[in-house]
Amino acid sequence: MLKEGEVLFVGAGPGDPELITVKGLKALQQAELVVYAGSLVNPALLEECPEDCEVHDSAPLNLDQVLEILLAGCRANKKVVRLHTGDPALYGAIQEQMEALDEAGIGYAVIPGVTATFAAAASLKQELTLPGVSQTLCLTRLAGRTPVPEKEQLRRLAANGGTLCLYLSVGMMDTLVDELLAGGTFTEQTPVAVVYRASWPDEKTVSGTLTDIAGKVAQAGISRQALILVGEVLGARQTGVPEKSKLYDPDFAHGYRKV
Ligand code: SAH
Repeated sequence: MLKEGEVLFVGAGPGDPELITVKGLKALQQAELVVYAGSLVNPALLEECPEDCEVHDSAPLNLDQVLEILLAGCRANKKVVRLHTGDPALYGAIQEQMEALDEAGIGYAVIPGVTATFAAAASLKQELTLPGVSQTLCLTRLAGRTPVPEKEQLRRLAANGGTLCLYLSVGMMDTLVDELLAGGTFTEQTPVAVVYRASWPDEKTVSGTLTDIAGKVAQAGISRQALILVGEVLGARQTGVPEKSKLYDPDFAHGYRKV
């Protein structure tokens, strides 16, 4: 998939270097130029690159500077990898890079990655969709320097209930709790879990309810690099699963199994 003179956007996964896809790993092993998002990509992954591979951290660079490096690499006919944390399609700012590559007539492709939501669910050993509790997952964030469209204000999304996964928001826990409660569906007893640096060696997990989670997160000293999960599915460990799934129900036939 990695071609000379083109850019391959690769999802690095949430942190554990073994959580990159096989395809992503192979791309790194063949890369001649890599630009990686230094704030959250595990540098251990870069050890997979060939010794003579040119490697740049994009953390201190602006868009134009990133593009300059990518375009120069492609014009020199190199195999270029743009390594993003988690999955590149979520809060990855890849669209603007792809647009510039389109304008320059340069080809590209994307290899997905394990996003923080699924790394956090794995750390918690938690299913995010339970029959009779929630069948919907909403990935969102609070507005920061990047605004959130009015129609997607957290209180409006929270009104739907379901399971919410919040990125880029752990530094605003008080606002987050106020917004979630303002939706009118979640209550002070709604369970919440916060996972800091899921899948990294220094991972931390904090669990609570909308009443006490902000205090617990502050006490744990977590103010960045964390994923917040909200919803009744998190309570199933205490209350038990209300309904077993139809998929493995002995009385439920489907294409692969007869009753
Ligand atoms: N593209 C990334 C998200 C980038 S935005 C992805 O798919 O995961 C950066 C935010 O993602 C962080 O502020 C945090 O909310 C979340 N995040 C990324 N990696 C994480 C991890 N290992 N553990 C918890 N949250 C993480």
